[in-house]
Amino acid sequence: MSNKAYNIGRYRLEPYRGHKTRHTCPQCKKAGKFSRYIDRQTGLFLADNVGKCNRLDNCGYHFTPRQYFEQTPAALQSVQHTQAQVKPESARRPIEIPAEYFQPSLKGYGANNFVKFLCRLFGEARALELAALYHLGTSNAIWPGACIFWLVDRTGRTFAGQVFDFDPATGKTIRETGADGRERRRSNWVHYAIDRSLKAQGKPAPAWLKTYIEQAARFPFCFGLHQLSDSNDRRPVAVVESAKTCLIMTGFEPSAVWLAVGSLSYLNAERLAPAKNRTIILYPDKGCFQAWELKASELRAAGFVVAVSDFLERHTDARAKDDIADLYIRATLAPNAPQSAQERPTASEPPQHTTEPPQPATAPGNGLPDNFARVGETLEFNGLPIAWLNAEEVAEAVAAAPHLALEILAAASPAAGTLIDRFGLELAA
Ligand SMILES: [Zn+2]
Repeated sequence: MSNKAYNIGRYRLEPYRGHKTRHTCPQCKKAGKFSRYIDRQTGLFLADNVGKCNRLDNCGYHFTPRQYFEQTPAALQSVQHTQAQVKPESARRPIEIPAEYFQPSLKGYGANNFVKFLCRLFGEARALELAALYHLGTSNAIWPGACIFWLVDRTGRTFAGQVFDFDPATGKTIRETGADGRERRRSNWVHYAIDRSLKAQGKPAPAWLKTYIEQAARFPFCFGLHQLSDSNDRRPVAVVESAKTCLIMTGFEPSAVWLAVGSLSYLNAERLAPAKNRTIILYPDKGCFQAWELKASELRAAGFVVAVSDFLERHTDARAKDDIADLYIRATLAPNAPQSAQERPTASEPPQHTTEPPQPATAPGNGLPDNFARVGETLEFNGLPIAWLNAEEVAEAVAAAPHLALEILAAASPAAGTLIDRFGLELAA
């Protein structure tokens, strides 16, 4: 196996773009039923038998990229493959969506199923503040009352939007079974909703929309990026995967600026560059800690001050695939919760289970890397308490002792310390 070639997240099934994107299945030989895997980086198909048959019950063929790389001799992997119909991610670019579609969507919150759920969690006033802060939109084009998570940049321009239909009682994305028998989440993109709505009105697609569908990057920067436009704002930056988690955690924990990367494959120095002068804490979903820690080490090598929260890994109430908001939602909506969300004095009060104080990482003076010392309770780096270090020195300290990253960040920045305390992070021993 060529380990170099296999890289989780690099391959994906070719998205549906008409009949040309569905091929003949190598097993059942049915035409138009087979989805092939493509390499996101090059836009090339893998070999023509690597893919998945849509006839789940009658055929069930699924040959994954991992199986392909495990079972194919390296010499045969280098054969030239054909270009897929879709452009590779690298060939796509950010394309602005005109404000005439963005601005009118910023209303209708009374019928927006996600905002209804926010009202359950935080009360109406706070829910509307959050909707305004993140420029939430409402769309009825695909599903009535669906929520648009617009990607707004630091100049207030918008380049993409995810559309989700939520259950207003649980906040979960609604799932439905398609004509092919496969279950899907009700999620789509705002450009598709615009296209659909224009078609319903009998209007032709404008030129920008055609270009957008062909060439636009789908998730060109972090959701929530627009909040980083104020250079006086020194709050730490907390990064999660999904826009929904990002928004709900802002309700629970406004002492951080919450961003969503959209996908682990987008968690890189380029995407986080606007947050480079801040303390960054990453909050992976349950089960994803190692993969995010790997990304964090790349970011540290690029000069970022970043730590990864292991809260979900250690929290006994966390279920597989939970994100950090899931725990907060369950604690808030539990029948025996101490008080309803509406009665809570401030939305920033964390649920009970998160209040354990962090434990000291190591016994004083014991097992610390070179250049570190513990004087009483205080951790020192190069002879100075962490709290005295400037940003470059903090970055240096984190890079020198990644396993102490959370403690260093907590000591370096009172705001990060508050955040870390609240999430009950246990520091690695
Ligand atoms: Zn088949």
